Amino acid sequence: SPPSPRPSELQLHDVFIAVKTTQAFHHSRVELLLNTWVSRTREQTFIFTDSLDEGLQERLGSHLVVTNCSAEHSHPALSCKMAAEFDAFLASGLRWFCHVDDDNYLNPRALLKLLKTFPQTRDVYVGRPSLNRPIHASEPQPHNRTRLVQFWFATGGAGFCINRKLALKMAPWASGSHFMDTSALIRLPDDCTVGYIVECKLGGHLQPCPLFHSHLETLQLLEAAQLPEQVTLSYGVFEGKLNVIKLQGPFSPEEDPSRFHSLHCLLYPDTPWCPQLVA
Ligand code: UDP
Ligand code: MN
Repeated sequence: SPPSPRPSELQLHDVFIAVKTTQAFHHSRVELLLNTWVSRTREQTFIFTDSLDEGLQERLGSHLVVTNCSAEHSHPALSCKMAAEFDAFLASGLRWFCHVDDDNYLNPRALLKLLKTFPQTRDVYVGRPSLNRPIHASEPQPHNRTRLVQFWFATGGAGFCINRKLALKMAPWASGSHFMDTSALIRLPDDCTVGYIVECKLGGHLQPCPLFHSHLETLQLLEAAQLPEQVTLSYGVFEGKLNVIKLQGPFSPEEDPSRFHSLHCLLYPDTPWCPQLVA
């Protein structure tokens, strides 16, 4: 009989995928994800939001997590959601935590391929560096003093992953109410706070990876042939123009402005709503 996979062989069901959203984007963004990549990662994916939504609840059940976080674009509100994602991951017992925004396409095959490259003995924090240099922050010290710290962090809008070994070490600064306290302490957003905890508190390092993408970069620069290898992609408006990946079809830019439907058909051509090629 063929050898059964070793228990340590990483599989998609070892990965916890957290998507951050807010009420205003349930219809315009989350629907698109459910109809595309999330349809291939249902068991692994949890959507973190701030408001009840019967329609979404019906489709997602326990995979819709309605947090008590406020529905605003403030550091505390966003850190509150990151904390909820982190705690749900810790409780899940899974091997990897991956965070994405609701305007990301996550390619499960590319993700698994990447995560398999890391030895289990290492602490891993992998993503796209937000800046081409470390960010500076001042860390309050006793007696009204401050310490200047610098660290790398992964752009939340491109997605990032952390393995359980590292996440457990982060817990004193990242679990429960600690994440919001840590974020408030350095007065930086949630994704910076993750980098601060890993690099400044634990002496770890961001593993830079060019396969994660946000809409803050020119997505048109990716060649169509490279698209299937990318772990995450995105879409959005950048400097007043629609910033999307370059893909011929099968859907027109009018039908599929984000290009996510077209990308999904490239990656999963057997999807019922993709035009079926006749042999
Ligand atoms: N978001 C949120 N609450 C808000 C606004 C945005 O949770 O009040 C989430 C949104 O759903 C997305 C992420 O934060 O997952 C980033 O938001 P957006 O893409 O609108 O802004 P960006 O920072 O990318 O310009
Ligand atoms: Mn965005």
